[in-house]
Amino acid sequence: MKRLYQAGDQGLGRCPACQEEVATRLEYRTFVPPGFEVEVADVLVEVCDRCGSILTIPPQSAARINAQRPEAARVAMIDGIQARIPRPFEEALDLVAATVGGSPKVVRSAVLRYYLLRASWSRRIMEAVKLRATDPLAECKADRKITVKVSQHHKRELMHVAKRCGVTSEAQFLRGVLLLIADDFDIEIRPCGGEAARERPPVPGASGRRRFIERLARVVS
Ligand SMILES: [Zn+2]
Repeated sequence: MKRLYQAGDQGLGRCPACQEEVATRLEYRTFVPPGFEVEVADVLVEVCDRCGSILTIPPQSAARINAQRPEAARVAMIDGIQARIPRPFEEALDLVAATVGGSPKVVRSAVLRYYLLRASWSRRIMEAVKLRATDPLAECKADRKITVKVSQHHKRELMHVAKRCGVTSEAQFLRGVLLLIADDFDIEIRPCGGEAARERPPVPGASGRRRFIERLARVVS
């Protein structure tokens, strides 16, 4: 049985604002979802009992949010996050796309956007990105350029969360994201200087993210 969340349901979760484990409840909210320029009314979300921040959006609410995505918001003010990256980072992304199948160009872009979204919603993911952004690997010669198109709103929000976690630039952020993707898919990138690779703790939920990417690749290709 799949769980259908309902208003009034109670739970526990880590509040991004309180930064600790809190009691939560499900309620209907009118709010601006990540990547939107406009409010969406009456969406069931999980909120912090203490401060009212949104912790998660249950799966069943995604359809309602997408259905209300106005055309204006879809095309609203596209911006980009750019970085110069070491070539192996790009090739790790290519390997992920080859592994899950589908159109490589479309899948690459979908994978990146998925991780950007996860990073903007989850402090745990952003912390993992930060750890990787400062890994010596990210300092290897950056001879490739990568751009991810995102809305201005999403970019502002992402970089705001990133800076709070100590990620100081778009380049650092994207390199951290790419290294997390490589780690999630068990792709080893060796340091450029020949030194031993630094051990990075795995980030819980990797198998769930991989499964999501596999499904996503089938849908978008
Ligand atoms: Zn809170």
